[in-house]
Amino acid sequence: MTDKNYLSQLRVPSKDQPLRILMSACLGGVACGYDSSTNGVYPSALKILTYDNVKIVKFCPEEFSFGTPREMCDMHGGNGMDVLNGKAKVLSDSGKDWTAGMIKASEKMLELAKEEQIELAVLMDISAACGSQVVYEGNRFGEQKVYQIGAGVCAAQLIRNGITVISQRDFASLEILYSKIDPLHIISDGAKDHHETDWYKAYFKI
Ligand code: SF4
Repeated sequence: MTDKNYLSQLRVPSKDQPLRILMSACLGGVACGYDSSTNGVYPSALKILTYDNVKIVKFCPEEFSFGTPREMCDMHGGNGMDVLNGKAKVLSDSGKDWTAGMIKASEKMLELAKEEQIELAVLMDISAACGSQVVYEGNRFGEQKVYQIGAGVCAAQLIRNGITVISQRDFASLEILYSKIDPLHIISDGAKDHHETDWYKAYFKI
């Protein structure tokens, strides 16, 4: 769940002192998805790239550890925080244990975030690496996809080290972000974060 208070307190950036944002490389248009695609096109995130008072650092943790193209992978037995705590695993589609590689990727992402003094991360939701609100439980190619609440391994690593993560589906949080980086932006009251949507509440019976 996004810390909207943190977002509200973000400084107003300038061209000389841009807001430093870490972004899932695929969200930023890099074809680093498992199938060498960008995992879709998300205008809500791509718009961030158009501002000159933002410094975007793009990184793909799965590409770092497993290359592109690669198998798809998902978490089994828990979410990203559970993986970091040794209570769940990351398996590729063919059953290879990618847990260690994914944790290494999360450590590299955190190292980069520290080096670049990142103030906010905007990551691709659902991914076993970058997801921040909802991720798959088990292999997503199974007969029925099963979702769980929680972050992917790399997002979890950032979160547990104090870095705020939002996804391309956290529209209310993005509205706050845009109000900081664009003086002309008027916040839309109707925007919702992913955990506030009807789908989320119905699926997780909240
Ligand atoms: S690991 Fe993250 S950056 Fe890389 S393709 Fe998956 S969602 Fe995108």
